[in-house]
Amino acid sequence: MSGNPLRELPSVDRLLGDEHVAALAERYGRTAVVEAVRRALEGAREDLRAGVAPGDLGARVEAEVGRALAPRLRRVLNATGVVVHTNLGRAPLPEAALRRIAETAGGYSNLEYDLETGARGSRQDHVAEPLCALTGAEAALVVNNNAAAVLLALAALADGREVIVSRGELVEIGDSFRIPEVLARSGARLVEVGTTNRTRLADYEQAVTAESAVLLRVHQSNFRIVGFTERPALGELAELAARRGLLLVDDLGSGALGELADEPSVRETLAAGAHLACFSGDKLLGGPQAGIVVGRADLIAKLRRHPLQRALRPDKLTIAALEGTLALYRTPERAAREIPVLRMLHEPDEAVRARAERLARLTGGEVVRTVSRVGGGALPLFELPSFACALPETLAVPLRLGDPPVIGVVREGRLLLDCRTLADADIERAASAVRAAGP
Ligand SMILES: *Cc1c(COP(=O)(O)O)cnc(C)c1O
Repeated sequence: MSGNPLRELPSVDRLLGDEHVAALAERYGRTAVVEAVRRALEGAREDLRAGVAPGDLGARVEAEVGRALAPRLRRVLNATGVVVHTNLGRAPLPEAALRRIAETAGGYSNLEYDLETGARGSRQDHVAEPLCALTGAEAALVVNNNAAAVLLALAALADGREVIVSRGELVEIGDSFRIPEVLARSGARLVEVGTTNRTRLADYEQAVTAESAVLLRVHQSNFRIVGFTERPALGELAELAARRGLLLVDDLGSGALGELADEPSVRETLAAGAHLACFSGDKLLGGPQAGIVVGRADLIAKLRRHPLQRALRPDKLTIAALEGTLALYRTPERAAREIPVLRMLHEPDEAVRARAERLARLTGGEVVRTVSRVGGGALPLFELPSFACALPETLAVPLRLGDPPVIGVVREGRLLLDCRTLADADIERAASAVRAAGP
C-alpha cells in the first residue's frame, strides 16, 4: 500500500461500529462518544501528518471520553503556603461542615419550615443564634458573600444619601471588587475624606451634612500603609456617629471570630460601637463562601426587608456548612483543631518541618525554610515561618497538570512545596504525584 496514510483512517461511522467503541457508547451515551470519536480521529490525523503512528484508535476514543466526562472542578493540593488562597477555593471546609451538608442536602430539610409551629420559617434562623452568641450582636443576617453584604447594607441604609469613607480605605480587594464601585451600585453617594495616609476625626466631622447617612469603615485587607499614618479609633467614629445621628458600618473583610494577630475581632468591633459589621464566611472564619452582617436588630431587620436581600440570600448548602462551622467555635480548642484554616495558621513550625522532611524523603527533595502567608486579603504583612520540600523547577508544570494537581511556588530556580498548606494525609499523594511527574 502506498499513498496517503490519512486515507486509511476509518470514518466516524465506521469507528463507531467498532466493538470497543460501541461498548463505550452503550455506557456513556452516543452523543459523548461521537464527539470523542471526532476528536480521536482529529488527533490521529495530526499524528500522521507529523509522521507518528496513531496507535490504537479505540484506546484514543476511550481517553477522549474520559477527558470529556472528567469533572472540571477538581480537588488540588495547595503547596503554595497561602492559607486562604483566593484562586484555590479559599477556605477548605471542616469535616463537621461537610457532614452537615451531607446530612441535610440529600433530602428535604426544614430550611424554611418551623417544626414547632408547622408554619413558614426563615433560613436565617439556623445561623442567626450562633452568630449572635459568638459576636455579642443583637441580630445577624447571612448573604451570598461579603461583597453582597456591603452592597445590601449600603442599599438599605444609605440609598440616595451620603456615605463617608476615608481615602485610605477606598480599596480594591481583588478581581476588581472596588469599594467605590460597590458603593455607587448601592445607590449611595460616596464622600471621600482625608488623604491616603492620614485621615483625622475632624475630616469626617467636617464632611457631615444633612444628606449624610453612614460612616463606612473598610478594613484595608490586602495592603498596609506604614510610616506617617493616622486614622481615628473606631470608638471615636462611634462617638461622632452618635453625636450627629449617623450609622457606623464596618466592613471587616476577613472577620476573625477569635484572637488572630492584630486582626480586629467581630466582637471587639461591635463593642467599640459599630452599628453593623460585615465579614466573609470563607476567609479567616474558615467556613463556606458567605457574607455575614451582624449588629443592631432594627438595622438587620431593614436589610432583611430590602428587595435585594432575596437576590443575595445564601442557599441551603451554605447554611448547612456555616452552621456546622459555627458549632465548632463554641469550643475554641475544637475550632483551632478542626477548622482547617485555623489549624494551618496555628500549627507549630516543627510539625510543618516534620511533614516537609517526610515529603523530601519520599521524593528525594531537600527541606528548606520558607514563609507562608494568610492570604485572602487578610494580614498581608503577617509571616508564618514554614518549611517546604524543594524540587527541580522543571516539575512545576507536570505537577500542575498531574492527578491530583499539585500547585507549588517557583523561587530561585526551584519548585517549593510549602508543607503548611498540605495536610498529613496529603503527603503520600503529593509524593506519588511527584513520582508520576518524573525526574
Ligand atoms: C474580601 C473582602 C470583601 C469581599 O468579600 P467576599 O466574601 O470576597 O465577597 C469586602 N471587603 C473587604 C474589606 C474584604 O477584605
